[in-house]
Amino acid sequence: MKQIYLDYAAATPMDPSVIKAMEPYFSDKFHNPSAIYLAGRAARQGFEDARASIAQNLGARPAEITFTAGATEANNLAIQGIMRNFRGGEVLVSAIEHESVLAPAKLFEYREIPVSTQGIVDTQKLEKMIGPRTVLVSVGLVNNEIGSIQPLRAIAEILRQVRKLRGPKGLPLYLHSDAAQAPNYFDLHVSRLGVDLLTINGGKIYGPKQSGALYVRGDLELQPLILGGGQENGLRPGTENVAAAVGLAAALSYAQSKRGAEAKRVARLRRLFIETLEKFSLKAIVNGSSKHCAPHILNVTFPGMDNERLMMELDEHGLQAATGSACNASSDEPSYVLSAIGLDDGAARSSLRFSFGRQTSESDIKYTLKTLFQLLKD
Ligand code: PLP
Repeated sequence: MKQIYLDYAAATPMDPSVIKAMEPYFSDKFHNPSAIYLAGRAARQGFEDARASIAQNLGARPAEITFTAGATEANNLAIQGIMRNFRGGEVLVSAIEHESVLAPAKLFEYREIPVSTQGIVDTQKLEKMIGPRTVLVSVGLVNNEIGSIQPLRAIAEILRQVRKLRGPKGLPLYLHSDAAQAPNYFDLHVSRLGVDLLTINGGKIYGPKQSGALYVRGDLELQPLILGGGQENGLRPGTENVAAAVGLAAALSYAQSKRGAEAKRVARLRRLFIETLEKFSLKAIVNGSSKHCAPHILNVTFPGMDNERLMMELDEHGLQAATGSACNASSDEPSYVLSAIGLDDGAARSSLRFSFGRQTSESDIKYTLKTLFQLLKD
């Protein structure tokens, strides 16, 4: 049976060029990069080249990049790393952040920034919410369930004004963004985004899972989450995973070099999906923003349908979609992201996420819609 993968927001296959770049570090160049003999120095070179390449893609300095095992760790390091420095401080996070942002935020004083029915952070509300003890705001660039794109520049500008008012003696105020879903399609220059901390994730960009990095602006001090040797300036101790770092760098460079063309191509597929839903007069509501949406994520409510059942039926026809975030896939709770944009439990339980990627073709979309039509027509 034909298999069509429509869950690229959950995982992407490794690009052959990424595998090729990593391979030597599993065999010939396996050495510990902290070893001072020649082979160790060669591994160190590969690791530091990877860091420099990532920094270049983010418009940052190499020393501002810390390698982590994926986005969950990078988000934890950003939030806990900052907040542990400011006991009594407060963190604001958008209501639709990934669990790996929400959960560490909940360890501290925190409030959720509401989003519109389109899934966009309300910047006016955010401005009013920033209090005298707010030290960190965390808003993801692209939401993983509905694909809404957040106005980071506008948020950064609000924070800049607050900083100005607080003056040099006031508490600092930082902006973190989880950009795990963004690198295949968006510019990630940290100065253009206006962020102080940025999370990236290899597993979503055709690189290895459990590879990731956190950009930390040069003058910020973070507390490490784990203690050990002095690797990564003591911020993330443990023997470096050189292969993962090299894979992440290769994946990011490739994604960034193709992002313009790929964003256009995938956006066309998304449009084709929506137009065909309309053409077939299927009972369906597209969730999120029609204007500020990532090209690769499409969240649809099929009123009256049970999303898990529909997902299983699609699977029987070789189509792999998702009921929401992969992390919540085993949870019985309806999606908190869909609740935050105003869907009731029934609608949330009738919603599926389709996400597209490099291997998705126009004929895949047509086949998917034909199958959906067969399943939904009666
Ligand atoms: N942040 C976002 C927006 C994501 O989509 C994901 C994965 O789904 C993560 C963080 C967590 O990534 P990982 O599980 O690879 O650490």
